[in-house]
Amino acid sequence: MTDFAATKEMFYLPKGMIYLDGNSLGPLPKATAARVEQAVTAEWGEKVITGWNRAGWMAQPTEYGDRIGRLIGAEAGHVVLGDTLSIKVYQALAAAIDLVPDRKVILTDSGNFPSDIYMAEGLIKSLGRGLELRVVAPEDVADHINDDLAVLMLTQVDYRTGRLHDMAALTAKAHAAGAVTVWDLAHTAGAMAVDLQGCNADFAVGCTYKYLNGGPGAPAFIYVAPRHIDTCQPALSGWLGHQAPFAFDLDYRPGTGIERMRVGTPSVLQMAALDSALNIWDAVDMQALRDASIMLTERFIAGVEAACPMLTLASPRDPQARGSQVSFAFEHGYAAMQACIARNLIGDFRAPNIMRFGFTPLFIDAGDVDHAVQIIADVMTNKLWDDPVYKQVSRVT
Ligand SMILES: *Cc1c(COP(=O)(O)O)cnc(C)c1O
Repeated sequence: MTDFAATKEMFYLPKGMIYLDGNSLGPLPKATAARVEQAVTAEWGEKVITGWNRAGWMAQPTEYGDRIGRLIGAEAGHVVLGDTLSIKVYQALAAAIDLVPDRKVILTDSGNFPSDIYMAEGLIKSLGRGLELRVVAPEDVADHINDDLAVLMLTQVDYRTGRLHDMAALTAKAHAAGAVTVWDLAHTAGAMAVDLQGCNADFAVGCTYKYLNGGPGAPAFIYVAPRHIDTCQPALSGWLGHQAPFAFDLDYRPGTGIERMRVGTPSVLQMAALDSALNIWDAVDMQALRDASIMLTERFIAGVEAACPMLTLASPRDPQARGSQVSFAFEHGYAAMQACIARNLIGDFRAPNIMRFGFTPLFIDAGDVDHAVQIIADVMTNKLWDDPVYKQVSRVT
């Protein structure tokens, strides 16, 4: 699918809203309500417990995992869905650490999403093996890859700025130093093509409620490279990752292949919502998506910079060096974003001063970009943000 006018028709967007936040929570596909209704009434309602087999619920985490696998360049049978991204970060990092038992350093960057860092800290503490989390500036990561390194754990696209790490080069450098890699694709999956296999990545994780449109609470995913899958040890050894869950053995034996990265009961109703979103994704040409995304972000940057000299581009100017979001720094960014939202232009604010806009070609087109630029220009030029109602901070920004 390269016809994004057609995909735009497949999404419901509130009337008059320009939604530049599909990088944070993807909007609702029009087919989702009926698919979830079917899962509730025809599956849960009519099939009750037999739904695990007769509605295919038990197989969905790997079946749908493979559909995501196509978008991220994974080998078939190497992606499984479940839990939330924070949990998948923990699992991937624990398995990676285990592959390099003689080393102590985990390297990440200060642009990483805090939850990834918190999960790493928690894991290090409970392992009690003297592991060290080293957090360096994103541009310094390559220089810190050396023979001490156990695991390189990075989020490929920076959630604040959209800065894109070179997965192939950093993975190669980490491997040459004898380290293992964990890539977080939260802001890459569905934003642009990824080639996990071609990059020789070891582990990858991501969520499905951002660019992939699986809905709030949608399951996360984890990828394990074929060379590690039979040796890596699941730290979260739940029953559905067991070799034979229904043997109810008291001894844990890891399951075959990617099944071992399952933990417990999958969220079936969320899987139904995700299925309807993947029906759109299954047909998307990822190169065409990337081309459209670059066209949109370039148009947006040019428009905003021409109209709003008080905003400073916080994203890389080179489109090949950023994902599918554009951020501007502005001292009163929170209030300015609130003023945009009040005018039905939805982006988000990330502390301390970042106004962030996500570009999602499946439902955003050049006309939307031009309209968004007009609203931002109005808010900035006329100082519409300078109003107390826009300065009250809500729980979720
Ligand atoms: C969005 C995001 C998360 C969120 O984790 P959840 O467990 O799904 O809430 C974690 N890490 C990164 C890099 C993210 O962008």
